[in-house]
Formats: sequence, C-alpha cells, structure tokens
Amino acid sequence: MSVSARNEISSRNQSSGYSGIEEHSGPLHSFLEHTTLLLFPIVFALNIHWAGSRLYELELLWLVALAVPLGIVGGDFISGLVHWAADTYGSEDMRVIGPSLVKPFRLHHIYPRDICTHGLVETTGNVCILAVPVLSLCLYLMWLAPHSGLLAFSVISFALMAAATVATNQFHKWAHQETPSAFARWLQQRRLVLEPEHHKRHHTKPFDTNYCITNGWLNPLLNRLKFFRRLEAALAFFGIKTTNSPH
Ligand SMILES: [Zn+2]
Ligand SMILES: [Zn+2]
Repeated sequence: MSVSARNEISSRNQSSGYSGIEEHSGPLHSFLEHTTLLLFPIVFALNIHWAGSRLYELELLWLVALAVPLGIVGGDFISGLVHWAADTYGSEDMRVIGPSLVKPFRLHHIYPRDICTHGLVETTGNVCILAVPVLSLCLYLMWLAPHSGLLAFSVISFALMAAATVATNQFHKWAHQETPSAFARWLQQRRLVLEPEHHKRHHTKPFDTNYCITNGWLNPLLNRLKFFRRLEAALAFFGIKTTNSPH
C-alpha cells in the first residue's frame, strides 16, 4: 500500500473516531482482568454488608447517607486525577503503566470511538485489578478492628468510590457511543453518569479541561480553580515536568 493511501485511511479513521485496529491483552493480563472482574462484586458486597452491619449495631447507619455522595464524588475525582496524569505525564514506553494506562488515554484522543468496541472485561477489568486487592485489604482492616465506627464509615465510602471508579470506563464508553441504550441515555440526561456534550469539551482544543469522567460533577469546580494547572505548576517546582502538555 502506498504511503498516501495509508495516510488517507488513517485520516478517514481519525475523522470517524475508530482506528480499525484491535488490540488484545496478553494472557496474564487477560487472566487478571477476568478473575478480578468476577471477584469484584463479591468483595464489594462483603465490604458493604460487614461495614453496614457494624454501623447498624453502633446505631450509626445514617452515616451511609454521607458515604454515598462522598464515594461517588471521590470516584469522579480519582477518574479526573488518573486521566489527567496519563494525559500529561510519562510515556507509552514506561513499564506496566505505559501500555495499560498512558497509551490507552493518549490513543483515545486520536480515536475516541475505539472505546465503543471494547467488551465489558476490557472496559472494566483494568480497574478491577487494582480495586480487588484494595477492597480485600479493607476486609482485613475490619477484621483487625471489629468495633470501629469510623473504619466502617470509611470502608463503605471507599467501597462506593471503588465501584464508581470501576464503572467509570463504562460511563465513558456510553458518552462516546453513537446510539447509547435507553438506560444509558436516561442516566446521562439526569447527569448521573458522564454526559456526552459535557465530555466533548475534553476532546476539544486545547484538550485541558473536564478530566473527570465518572459523571463529571467535579469538572466545573476543578476548571474554575485551575486545579490541574496549579498541580502541574506545583510538580514542576519539584522538577517533575509534563511530557504531553497541551500548552
Ligand atoms: Zn484525555
Ligand atoms: Zn473520551
């Protein structure tokens, strides 16, 4: 194929948002994605059940009303922080996080609709690999301190945050779908999950706003505070330079 023909296909793919390339995880990564995706609902339910029972025994169940928004907003913040870090620092050649984090986020800017071709395991598995050990540690901590109400409250907030983080890529995928399901659209219209028009701003020059991709609730505040620009300035002060800044 001639170079000009290849360039023509590449620019055609870029305008459609699909690369046309299928990439698959290696055998170990794929095994971890599958097993942790199966384990995640179990450890999540155990955390909620144990921590909820403890709050009930201590007559502190009302704290769940605080833990729910805290967990959801915390998940949105983590999504923004990780997304910004992958967009702005490091390189695709770095060990482990290069191919699993930096590369997907950067390719996503060139081919934003590739995410729509990913199945459930590919969409959520990577986050489950991190979430399952962390939630297992929460269970262990509750076993060590069985009477702590503060720990039970923290664990419920943390488990909800982990669930929001695991669901983030699914919400992000819905935001790029040409025809999302009626259920996804219903959630998007109520801003319970990432709304496509809101997310479009991140994919528009200069590509430096709206990093949060769970539901984007924190984006207006973080944009107004210039949070990520200030964070970049603070890191630059310590000698950590951006490698892919839009500026
Ligand atoms: Zn991005
Ligand atoms: Zn996107």
